Amino acid sequence: MVDKVGLIYTDDYQKYNFGVDHPFKPLRFKLTYSLMEKLELLENERLELLKPREATREELERVHSSKYIDVVKKLSENPNDRTISPYTYGLGPGDNPIFKGMYEAAALVCGGSIIAADNVWNNEDFKVAFNIVGGLHHAGKDKASGFCIFNDIAVAIHHLKSLKENIKIAYVDIDCHHGDGVQWLFYDDPNVLTISYHQDGRYLFPGTGFVNEVGEGKGKGYSINFPLVPGTSNKPFLKLFRRTTPKILEAYNPDILVTQLGVDTYFDDPLTEMGFSLSVYRDIAQTLKTCAREYCQNKWLAVGGGGYLMNVVPRAWSIFLAKMLDVELSNELPNSWIKEVKELVPFEETPYSLWDRGEKVEVQMLKNPEIAKKIIEYSNSLIELSDEKYLPNLTKS
Ligand SMILES: [Zn+2]
Repeated sequence: MVDKVGLIYTDDYQKYNFGVDHPFKPLRFKLTYSLMEKLELLENERLELLKPREATREELERVHSSKYIDVVKKLSENPNDRTISPYTYGLGPGDNPIFKGMYEAAALVCGGSIIAADNVWNNEDFKVAFNIVGGLHHAGKDKASGFCIFNDIAVAIHHLKSLKENIKIAYVDIDCHHGDGVQWLFYDDPNVLTISYHQDGRYLFPGTGFVNEVGEGKGKGYSINFPLVPGTSNKPFLKLFRRTTPKILEAYNPDILVTQLGVDTYFDDPLTEMGFSLSVYRDIAQTLKTCAREYCQNKWLAVGGGGYLMNVVPRAWSIFLAKMLDVELSNELPNSWIKEVKELVPFEETPYSLWDRGEKVEVQMLKNPEIAKKIIEYSNSLIELSDEKYLPNLTKS
């Protein structure tokens, strides 16, 4: 047993591209891969690069309707097809613009998550696999949503279900946006537990993820939501995260952990209003790694997600990968990568260290002690809610 870490990547991932003015830029993946390379993570003896393949139609149909898949395929071949009204399916100018080749690009993201799932489940050598381009958690059965055409996470979960009858899967989503697509697709399924931490839906897309969304039918109790106050910073979040996720996973005792690692919770992210700094991702990664080992049979499928600063996403996901590899990184960025960021992202502030200490956020918090107090009290109330309501729901079954 070698205990390898799979990283799923191909330059073809650049084809998932909504255009130059869109925030979900493929450059984020290119710069991530480049930083992982320059930090020498890719030459680590435990790391194995795995190539994705396109998900098959059959694999997509486990999640999406045949009609919707047809629509994506037709518009992918001919973006100007006038026989289709794309808005019915969430496609068109705005969040999910139509582009030529989008079917293949989106199917490749799904196939990447399938490859990751497959290796973690079937291959004795792998305990962890990370598909950085995956994490398209908003896509629904019949629609694209929030930059997500096909839901690679749901496709991978169904792939796992096809490998083992009654497999129990725990899904943890730390993206700043609620993991609505995955939640609704498995809302009545007790074998897929979804846990989402996100900025409160009253203030952010997609406007869901409230504490009363707990699942339905046999799945009642198996959807868990932690809506967070805008501005929540590292400390209150880490306390909440560490006091809830491990207990929930221990109680549920899944066969495998699936995590969506969106990093749009960063304080400066242009799309959101949370208050995390980069060092939080190292601590989250540590907790998830421990949870996978202790409570999830040491099987961990990780996918990416949101994050809209080109210089932040690569650093955050490199921190996650390093943790998976048990590599301790120093707080230095390779000069060659800094140079690359300067050239390719001149419109962003140039980073000089791998993680920051979050001083900006903490200073803001100190300036507003009343708000800080409210945030702490509120996140403590979520811990109580989890202990008193969410946990008993899981253990009674
Ligand atoms: Zn997001």
